[in-house]
Amino acid sequence: MFALGGSVHPGGVRILVVEDERRLAELLKDGLTREGFAVDLAHDGHEGLWMATEQPYDVIVLDVMLPGLHGYALCAKLREAGNWTPILMLTAKDGEYDEAEALDTGADDYLSKPFSYVVLLARLRALVRRGTRERPAVLAVGDLRIDPAGLRCSRGDVQIALTPKEFAILHCLARRAGEVVAKSELLARAWDFAFDGDSNVVEVYISALRRKIDKPFGRATLTTVRGAGYRLEG
Ligand code: CA
Repeated sequence: MFALGGSVHPGGVRILVVEDERRLAELLKDGLTREGFAVDLAHDGHEGLWMATEQPYDVIVLDVMLPGLHGYALCAKLREAGNWTPILMLTAKDGEYDEAEALDTGADDYLSKPFSYVVLLARLRALVRRGTRERPAVLAVGDLRIDPAGLRCSRGDVQIALTPKEFAILHCLARRAGEVVAKSELLARAWDFAFDGDSNVVEVYISALRRKIDKPFGRATLTTVRGAGYRLEG
């Protein structure tokens, strides 16, 4: 199976699999071990973070839905700590938000469950080949800078303190700078899918963002497009 287009030899390649579904974790371990990889398992988020921090791995397979610490949070914490081990995320929900979020938090690739083992192997080999390198995905919209890994935001030289929800909304708008983003999309990004409260809550956060990223700087970059949504411009 290892002949599948790879010039990377698995000998000496260490993989950490963070997956709470024990049967799947064991299957992955067995399969990958047979390919010659050295495989360690972690069964919850905290254990995974600890192992990824304490040991050097060549690649990490990271489930999103984990007890203890969510896969996104684990990934973000590693990146914040300057750990750029390639991460393949296993997303549970098959939706574009989930996949975008996996990449936003600093993952290198993702696979939606259920996935093909052959595809998983091919993706892992590609990640190992690419190796560890820093990928700061800082977004710039004009002089506004948004750093998802560090959860930092600044305009010019001025640091702007945002709450996690404000950050999530601004990040979503910044990724689509110049485009109109629907309120429903912002809701889905910043709150979980089960949120069924008042969608006016988005407006509250948009107002708060304007008070932080625009007003102090005499700007009006975050605009409301009536009946359609919101737009962030540089
Ligand atoms: Ca899981």
